[in-house]
Amino acid sequence: GNRSIRIPLEGPEEVRRLTATLNNMSAELKRQEDWRHQLMEDFMHELRTPLTSVLPRVEAMVDGLLKPDPAQMQEIYEELERFTRLVNDLERLSEAEAARFAMIIKRTNMVKLTLQIYNQHKALAKEKGIKLKLEATNVPCYAEIDRDKIVQVMTNVVLNAIKYTPPGGRVTLMTDWTEDHILLACEDTGIGISTQDLPYIFNRLYRADKSRSRFSGGVGLGLSIAKALVEAHNGELTASSQVGKGSRFMIKLPNRYQAYSKEEGA
Ligand code: ADP
Repeated sequence: GNRSIRIPLEGPEEVRRLTATLNNMSAELKRQEDWRHQLMEDFMHELRTPLTSVLPRVEAMVDGLLKPDPAQMQEIYEELERFTRLVNDLERLSEAEAARFAMIIKRTNMVKLTLQIYNQHKALAKEKGIKLKLEATNVPCYAEIDRDKIVQVMTNVVLNAIKYTPPGGRVTLMTDWTEDHILLACEDTGIGISTQDLPYIFNRLYRADKSRSRFSGGVGLGLSIAKALVEAHNGELTASSQVGKGSRFMIKLPNRYQAYSKEEGA
């Protein structure tokens, strides 16, 4: 039988809105696909690098053409470790990507949320000799957000600020709002980011200081995930910085969450 469901339409305005929604959905699907494609390319490149350097050397050892020596083994070990980290991060990133399209939106008191982030990092900052400060408006402001995702973003930004600020420095969390936007900021008095690096820090796998990365665990994915999560809220994640002075990361969220609103009216 005919199992299709008929939705009564109220008039031309509703038809227009439905058409717009469908167009926006297909634009969104296209965006998803491009994103996934670019992701695969980046990762294939990154995964091939350790493999192409390790494989011929191990091969030569197996064939008896090269004697295994401790320095060689150490290098091979490090390349394989990096390989493992990349695979782990790929998993994290694909989780974040899936999260982009499964949002659990709840009305959230942003002042309270910032206070929660502040309380969660106070001890860590103190341990490192950094003063963590909170500058929030007294006026409660609400945003319609996926709480876990915004907490993940803020945590990432605050942990970076603490990581890249030497002892004696300061990290300040700020919340403010306008009629249209909720603004969350994290300012530090740390090492800063050079003008050459700044445009790329949100790119996947980018690290300002490659030598530092070997021992700190991350491979430069945190901020690209954070950006994807903020953009899933139709928000913006931006940074400004001065070398030797410090950095400021800004999360700008729409005061109301609206699915596909980016594309509306286009
Ligand atoms: P990771 O921390 O794993 O390297 P991120 O994506 O979180 O990856 O950060 C990318 C890069 O941006 C870092 O390697 C660092 O060079 C730079 N960066 C991020 N936050 C700060 C900050 N607050 N101060 C200075 N540099 C920063």
